[in-house]
Amino acid sequence: MSNVIASSSTNVRRYANHVDGAPLDASGSEPIARHDPASGRLVAQYADAGPDVVDAAVLAARRAFDDGPWPLLSGAERARLLRRFATVVDGERERLAALDSQEVGKPLRLARGDLEGVVAQIEFAASLAHTDHGSSWTQLDTGFVAYATHEPLGVAALIVPWNFPALILSQKLPYALAAGCTVVVKPSELTSSSALEIADLALAAGIPPGVVNVVTGYGPTTGQALIEHPGVDVVSFTGSTATGREVAAAAGRGLKRVGLELGGKAANVVFADADLDAAADAAVFAAFFNQGECCVSGSRLLIDVRIAEDFVATVVARAATLVTGAPDDEATDVGALIHERHLDKVLDHVAGATEAGAHLLIGGARLTGGGLADGAFMAPTIFGGVDAGSRLFREEVFGPVLAVATFDGADDAIRLTNATDYGLSNAVWTSDVGTALAVSEGMRSGTVWINTNIDGSPALAFGGMKASGIGREVGFEGLREFSSSKTVQLRRGDRALPFPRAATEEGR
Ligand code: NAD
Repeated sequence: MSNVIASSSTNVRRYANHVDGAPLDASGSEPIARHDPASGRLVAQYADAGPDVVDAAVLAARRAFDDGPWPLLSGAERARLLRRFATVVDGERERLAALDSQEVGKPLRLARGDLEGVVAQIEFAASLAHTDHGSSWTQLDTGFVAYATHEPLGVAALIVPWNFPALILSQKLPYALAAGCTVVVKPSELTSSSALEIADLALAAGIPPGVVNVVTGYGPTTGQALIEHPGVDVVSFTGSTATGREVAAAAGRGLKRVGLELGGKAANVVFADADLDAAADAAVFAAFFNQGECCVSGSRLLIDVRIAEDFVATVVARAATLVTGAPDDEATDVGALIHERHLDKVLDHVAGATEAGAHLLIGGARLTGGGLADGAFMAPTIFGGVDAGSRLFREEVFGPVLAVATFDGADDAIRLTNATDYGLSNAVWTSDVGTALAVSEGMRSGTVWINTNIDGSPALAFGGMKASGIGREVGFEGLREFSSSKTVQLRRGDRALPFPRAATEEGR
């Protein structure tokens, strides 16, 4: 049953929560209004779920877990339903991409890529549901065998940010389902439409009611109530490091398993012997893809001091060719930022970088010309000569701002890469395999890209070190975040017990 309550002639989508396979409105609270950040137009309204709605959603997920059938289905059966889910989502890719593009402000052309990723994640998780198995030990002792199974953890709370609403959901949801968990999703209050639509598609694919529930609302109220609910067993959170600390504390109080995918400040290290043409393209892509609102944005370019001047000139020239504009224009490379306050925050970083003595090479300002006046558009921005101790070098900006610094030798490149609290991803470009391996070993991050950037596959685990988080998602490790192992031990024949049998019998 669709969560859309009404879509008026002005095309404003009005959604209820999705609980137990049906829409559930939030009583007594003002709906949350979402304005398209590129035009300022009202495009969607979501319910602001209070504790009663969160409770109803968790109880629905609890029933679907405790009474089944979801966790009791065979792996093959769960895989079959997940494959059907992937097919149904595949059929709706264009519509879902349009929703995410409109609510995030990202180019539709690139949102289509997100949705291809969503389908690939669900398909991969289906293969895990089918092939997952435990382990056995048969060599421990005569007459003694043991085996370990992986059991679903229970009800999973999935809390998702706004930058890749459908894609990040797909890095959690199908893995939780493949493991046999039931879920309550809390999407960002800025971009909730695609999660609600995807919950409808799960139902249409035959995944039973109550297995996938969605509550919409603000983080400190709806999100916090969800994490603190005693019916939730595991929390999987993606968002900022500041919020991640609060989520971890709340999950800790309830002794719940918690996975945290947090911020990043990736370095893109380019040595003089690299394929410089490819490296320059990738530097521009990694910095400005998704308006730089990307946890793995290559927001620091560390360039070999021997080639710095020419290479930086090439990167600046290529950045100058990027088209910033309306998300639904097929020519657009860079869309709008998520909202005005975020644009102000990014501009504050720009002002701070200038004060700290960095050199502005391109951009640095809001864009209002050419029909962009009503949106939160920002020019792709590059600073040279960025000091390694400065805010711009160390802090996540989450906008289209690239910080450039030089290094002299591999040790210096590693030192600069690690000079931030974050440790999510980094990249290195070189034609020397020894340099590539040495630098990747030294980089303190969950992912290292060699001669590529912002790349991947659903098979490859993703997550951070240091302030970038705890745990891994996607791939086989992503499945394990939602399961608990059980060791079963069996002995036959005589057992050598430390209490002598005679003494025990005499004592009777
Ligand atoms: P955010 O932390 O503000 O919000 C993320 C989600 O948490 C939202 O759904 C929000 O409503 C909810 N939330 C906020 N406060 C909460 C609370 N106290 N309790 C429970 N839930 C709460 O982050 P954002 O602004 O939506 O996203 C941007 C951040 O996400 C950036 O820092 C970015 O690096 C990070 N991010 C990380 C990854 C990754 O995989 N590591 C991926 C994408 C984004």
